[in-house]
Amino acid sequence: MRKIRTNLLTPLDADHSQFLPDHVIAWDDAGISTLRPYDPSRDGEAEDRLDCLVLPGLIDAHVHLSQYRIRGRYEPSLLRWLEKHVFPEEARSADTDYAVSLAKEFFRALFAAGTTCSVIYTAPYVQACLAAFQTAGEMGARAFIGMTLMDRNSPSNLAQTTDYAYSTSAELYQRYHQASPLLDYIFTPRFALSCSEELMRKIGSFANAHGAWIQTHLAENKTEVNQVAQMFGVPYTKAYEQLGMLTPHTILAHAIHLAESDMDTLAAYDCRIAHCPDSNFFLKSGEFPYQSLADRKISIGIGSDVAAGTTLSMLYHAKIASYRQSAYSLAPERLFYHITLGNARLLGLDGRIGSLESGKEADLCILRLPPQPVPASDLLSALCFQGHEWPVAETVIAGRTVYRA
Ligand SMILES: [Zn+2]
Repeated sequence: MRKIRTNLLTPLDADHSQFLPDHVIAWDDAGISTLRPYDPSRDGEAEDRLDCLVLPGLIDAHVHLSQYRIRGRYEPSLLRWLEKHVFPEEARSADTDYAVSLAKEFFRALFAAGTTCSVIYTAPYVQACLAAFQTAGEMGARAFIGMTLMDRNSPSNLAQTTDYAYSTSAELYQRYHQASPLLDYIFTPRFALSCSEELMRKIGSFANAHGAWIQTHLAENKTEVNQVAQMFGVPYTKAYEQLGMLTPHTILAHAIHLAESDMDTLAAYDCRIAHCPDSNFFLKSGEFPYQSLADRKISIGIGSDVAAGTTLSMLYHAKIASYRQSAYSLAPERLFYHITLGNARLLGLDGRIGSLESGKEADLCILRLPPQPVPASDLLSALCFQGHEWPVAETVIAGRTVYRA
């Protein structure tokens, strides 16, 4: 059991949060047991961390593990960037030793950024996906992990056969779904241009029958959108709909170039959207239609999209989400919600994680406060726009410390 005297900040809902200065929080692997104002008569033995701010662990709704080492490689156009940087790097993960060392480096960096839960794409090799699961299990990560699928229009060293892509995914699902409380499998067709209709139809059918998770990309780039329309004869969203890929457990990254009717379709299927603002900026993909999607009550999360996103810091991505809206103001309360409770809700985990509440699992991001005190009324704003520079002192997942500065 750990018990610390510190300052707490937790989201209440999409537009409200609560700052609790000088409180005591206690936890163990069964969850958070105590949250109350510091009382010297009862809490004298608590570890003094008044120099820190405790947040719920940060959640990343979209990240490519196998691209971690190529962050910041300039190429401002999605399809050229894939050819030039992504495919050659992902090909290296065909080597198991490379995949294992990369997975260790990735999870260490994730924990050092205060991220406690993530939704991960690995390279299109089963050994890369197995390395990610094994490393995540050993290091104590909470994650949804999938082997990226690509069975057409792909370099020969990355391309899978349709049969291999589907049957291996189904085997990985059987092996990892509910095999541990912290890990789950997610079907991961890369995007419509690199996946056959047969493959996506099979995945859609399996996912609908089992309630399995799917992640893919949607309408990120205008050239991509045009090519999908040519290839499938219908708009991007319609293609996914016809193939059974749209479900309440489908996480669609980007979703930028959408018609009103596409947004209505996404709302009708209760799909989840992973907004990746830093990546959209980096690849000149376009501006995310936040307000139009939020008005339809579509579940929006925020992802780093490393490596097109340049950092694993979700506080940085919260800030960029605000910067990327040219006409819509995303308040700090909303930004904080998205990278904590909102992303937990997107993943169906809000009953377990996403906020600091007695009885929830102890996923914590413990930040060192700046030396110059920030007034309580400005703390949330400072956190969302500048907190990515505040050092992470400790990261806790399910009660276990996975990182300490
Ligand atoms: Zn992505």
